[in-house]
Amino acid sequence: MRIFQPLSASGIMIRCTAAALAALTAACCMCGPVSASASVATSTADDTVKTTDAKAIFEDRKSLYDEISTVTQIPWYRLAAIDQYERTLTRVHPKDRKHPDRTLGIFIPSTRWAGALNPNQEDVNPTSISVFSGIGLDGDGDGKADRNNDTDLLYTVAARLSPYGHAADDFSIGLWSYYQNTRAVQRVMQYAKLYETFGKLDLFDHAFPLPVKSNYSYRSTFGMGRNWGGRRVHEGTDLFANYGVPVRSTCYGVVEIKGWNKYGGWRIGIRDLNNHYHYYAHLQGFDKGISLGDVVTPGQTLGWVGSSGYGKPGTQGKFPPHLHYGIYRDTGLNEWAFDPYPLLKHWEMEEKRSKKKTRS
Ligand SMILES: [Zn+2]
Repeated sequence: MRIFQPLSASGIMIRCTAAALAALTAACCMCGPVSASASVATSTADDTVKTTDAKAIFEDRKSLYDEISTVTQIPWYRLAAIDQYERTLTRVHPKDRKHPDRTLGIFIPSTRWAGALNPNQEDVNPTSISVFSGIGLDGDGDGKADRNNDTDLLYTVAARLSPYGHAADDFSIGLWSYYQNTRAVQRVMQYAKLYETFGKLDLFDHAFPLPVKSNYSYRSTFGMGRNWGGRRVHEGTDLFANYGVPVRSTCYGVVEIKGWNKYGGWRIGIRDLNNHYHYYAHLQGFDKGISLGDVVTPGQTLGWVGSSGYGKPGTQGKFPPHLHYGIYRDTGLNEWAFDPYPLLKHWEMEEKRSKKKTRS
């Protein structure tokens, strides 16, 4: 397992020497965001809610957001964003954030809920919780502040944010005060934008990054060595295709990075609601309609397959044209690459199957 340099916050860490440049060969891309270690985290899990109950789950969540929104004046899409962000944290830290089954993903540790010095860490009495400077509140009016009750949880968070005000900047300051973490603020604001734009919670559809009817080929290359830029491993899958084949978003998400990188060339990074960062590199160019901070939908064109990268801005043709596609999971502190190959296979198959269905 290894840690990847935060892409979004501090940009790409560059390791490049004259010797590495001289060692450049044109054989095959070994590209992607830079890292300098040798092992990789693997996961084939897709966090998408895809059960027959999905609709009911989304409805339950939405009614809770609406209820607390009415009381606190915080728009539902911001409450939804906080809840979803916390849900992604629980997925990567299940042991630290253990809680009973419930509708919401928000987690507040007992020390914070009941107060660090409270001798009763399971305290549900709002008065004694307040005496010990705990933050737990009674949201549903049953006289108890229960940190495993959905309404109490959401109300407690919302009540802490509401006094900051409802302009986006004020709300961000409230988030900063609550999480003390810039990444948390960025994620919640990204998610809020997605929910506000689409007006629904069900935003987990996927698409294959290239049109399935185009000519392309790919195989699993995750974790292989690279031959350019020092000791790095390949954190993604190379999809070989001709120049100009459209590169499409694989998910609903927000454009987090767009521009030139020495390794990835013209590259774009999209953040999704599972807190995955989708990285597309070596593009020929970007679709004119795509700007930093925009929301995108699955299948939307981001740019075109090219061979940019491995040098100063505009460098191209150092290797055959292809899309380098990688996925990184944000753990709240770091980002970890995982192998996108099984997901690519899955999305490709689903799309081919649905195309067949619409034809018949
Ligand atoms: Zn690659």
